[in-house]
Amino acid sequence: MIPTITLASSNAHKLSEFQEIFAKTSKASVVAAPSSLSVIEDGATYHENALLKACAYYQKFKVPIVADDSGLEVAALPGELGVLSARFGGNIASSKKCELLLSKMQTVPPEKRQAYFICVLCYYRSPQEIFFFEGRVDGEIAYELKGEHGFGFDPIFLPMEATQKGDSLAMLSEWKQEHSHRARAIKRLLHFL
Ligand code: IMP
Repeated sequence: MIPTITLASSNAHKLSEFQEIFAKTSKASVVAAPSSLSVIEDGATYHENALLKACAYYQKFKVPIVADDSGLEVAALPGELGVLSARFGGNIASSKKCELLLSKMQTVPPEKRQAYFICVLCYYRSPQEIFFFEGRVDGEIAYELKGEHGFGFDPIFLPMEATQKGDSLAMLSEWKQEHSHRARAIKRLLHFL
């Protein structure tokens, strides 16, 4: 039987991204946690927040955990998103968060719209065995929401390396599954396993 790793998240999109990549190997499988915990993510870095989540789930369920902390870094809005991305705009729908971000970027010219998604994974095997893996995808902020897939800021993020220039991550499900910040971090974890 292959080992299982429990994902410290209630985000169904993240779970399916993990499961699709893990399904291609026989190293381990990723399962949802039996229940979701509300963890206060008050760390100053992605690493700290990923560790906070992993540690909370490990203490509750006593099984190997993988936790993800991710965010969108926008060059034109320093300090507004990043590690605080989930809180951007407060408690509003993600489409509204995208619109808010676009409104703040209204006067930002094309050459200053650089952004990247970053993901830090914390693999918490036991309190003595804690490992971190990182992935990143570069791109820029669009001028409008585009695409139906994905979640969060996907509709306004245009990855630089995508073959279809100008398509948002929300239009590039297959590409995202292979090349996103999370996919890249997960592949590093798999390599380690
Ligand atoms: P957290 O890691 O769940 O705290 O995510 C931080 C925020 O970054 C989320 O609220 C999302 O809006 C955004 N985010 C993280 N990963 C992605 C992604 O793959 N696509 C779009 N938005 C993302």
